[in-house]
Amino acid sequence: MRCVERTFEYMDGLALVALLRANALDAHLFDENFVRQDWFHIIVYGGFRVVVPASQLDQAIEIRDRFQRNEFDLPAEDCDIPQCPTCKTASGQADPSPRRMLFLLYIIFFGISGFLIQSEYAIGLYVASWLGVHTAMLFPPLLRYLVIGRYRCATCNARWREAPDRPFHVQQQQAAAALAEASA
Ligand SMILES: [Zn+2]
Repeated sequence: MRCVERTFEYMDGLALVALLRANALDAHLFDENFVRQDWFHIIVYGGFRVVVPASQLDQAIEIRDRFQRNEFDLPAEDCDIPQCPTCKTASGQADPSPRRMLFLLYIIFFGISGFLIQSEYAIGLYVASWLGVHTAMLFPPLLRYLVIGRYRCATCNARWREAPDRPFHVQQQQAAAALAEASA
């Protein structure tokens, strides 16, 4: 067996193994369970090694190189990329700014409250706002609303919020009803 690729990322190794196997090569992730047991020493072990029989090495290297050049990427129209409501192109990306804003507020809040504690000044205000902000920040529906489903358009930079999917059991009921209707 010969090594095609070394990686410190387990999933990267598995992805390459799956790709090589899909091309009829006998690929394995060498020592995968051994290295995973002791991931603090993952660098000492040399990471995960993707190995193939020596006779298949050239073919495996060629596939690995094409994989690393992103030649196996799906065409954009086959990917489920959210559509921008403003310019109607499929160029939505996850928008990190609401999350950053939330973290920034949190950091500023703790900076201010630290100052107030040290100065022993306005302690009542501090306690009230501490309780208030924590109640709000620990309020999961609010957090979900602020952070989840936020997209930004790569073309026109518009920002929007995608309506969440219906709960799974509702989708299941709708699918069952549609099937019953079609077979009736
Ligand atoms: Zn747009």
